[in-house]
Amino acid sequence: MAIVIKNGRVIDPASQTDRVADVLIVDGRIAGVAPNLASSKAEILDATGMIVAPGFIDMHVHLREPGFEHAETIESGSRAAAAGGFTSICCMPNTKPVNDSATVTSYIVERARRLAAVNVFPIGAITKGSAGEELSAMGGMKGAGAVAISDDGLPVMNARVMRRAMEFARSYRLPIIQHCEDLNLSAGGDMHEGVQSVRWGLRGIPSASEDVMVARDLVLAQLTGARYHVAHISTRNAIGMLEYARRHGLHVTCETTPHHFALTEEQMAPYDSNYKMKPPLRSGCDRTAVIEGIVAGTISAIATDHAPHPGSEKMQEFERCPFGIIGLETALALALEELVHTEKITLNRMVELFTTGPESVMRLGRGTLAPGAPGDVTVFDTDVSWTYDVNQSHSRSRNSPFHGRTFRGGPMATVVNGEFAWRRDRA
Ligand SMILES: [Zn+2]
Repeated sequence: MAIVIKNGRVIDPASQTDRVADVLIVDGRIAGVAPNLASSKAEILDATGMIVAPGFIDMHVHLREPGFEHAETIESGSRAAAAGGFTSICCMPNTKPVNDSATVTSYIVERARRLAAVNVFPIGAITKGSAGEELSAMGGMKGAGAVAISDDGLPVMNARVMRRAMEFARSYRLPIIQHCEDLNLSAGGDMHEGVQSVRWGLRGIPSASEDVMVARDLVLAQLTGARYHVAHISTRNAIGMLEYARRHGLHVTCETTPHHFALTEEQMAPYDSNYKMKPPLRSGCDRTAVIEGIVAGTISAIATDHAPHPGSEKMQEFERCPFGIIGLETALALALEELVHTEKITLNRMVELFTTGPESVMRLGRGTLAPGAPGDVTVFDTDVSWTYDVNQSHSRSRNSPFHGRTFRGGPMATVVNGEFAWRRDRA
């Protein structure tokens, strides 16, 4: 079983490679990167004019299985990932039951092994039922395959519980990922607290609800020495504090989402729940800070926070709708359009944000085209013109604000463990 990807521009930040070459994958592993590679029985992909990169990693998705299979399954979500150029995804534990034990972790690992189009790495809960009170069985979950812990969707509100969780996470060598939101400050809000929320008469979620939690956690991260990661960072203050903490040697990282660098509250269609997510779309000033954080390296990874919800739930009054949008199939195109074509970052930096960046946090043993590495490859084109039709999505859900948008640039093929998981021409 072999694949040769011919004549692409190979960008592998992990090995500081950026040149036109072939990539040979044999028996599920990278066999070589060099000009004019050949293998007698190899399947050939002509990538002339395209970028060939290590398989992209999305460290923050919601697959909804077990428990909410009407919204997404491991199979459907992983197919959406493959079509978005991702070869590895990490799934959050807010399923039903919550992934807070080795039993649930094993169930996800086993389902993924049989059905998933890409590599699936479960994230275990910090607390039992993600209720924020009692710590989950971290050791057992790690043994079953969990790669990090998080109560994402909810914050750990109790500082004492968070401190203990950080101490345990540190001893188990697991990164701890926080959904930073002080629930007392966000107080049931539906969108960013600002001019628009006042205009539309909707309850606001102030930036302070994120900032306060990041500040508290950075103090606790210093106290405990935990590897602490902020999910979907979205405010200028939070990014500033993270930058300060990193400069002072703390082992802290953060990710942002495509919608937080692409959109602001001003671009929301009024009362359209496809623009309702947590954290909410923020101000233009916050969006600029997110982009500056990406440029400066304070933000290590782009993660989609892919959050499928069926139409029945998203087509209620705005206040009643759940938070979140799907994002696996549009992330790469948004990064190209908003960051690379605008010349805010280089292609190399963008590839880092999808490979070495998330890898440095999650330590999956992926994100490189070095010989012997897992045969995960993402092939994309910076100029291909395509229109996102959410009704054709591989996801079971349709909640995207990007439906109908024509993009310049996007994924062309995804190779997972040495086999094609998706190709644009055969989609
Ligand atoms: Zn979250």
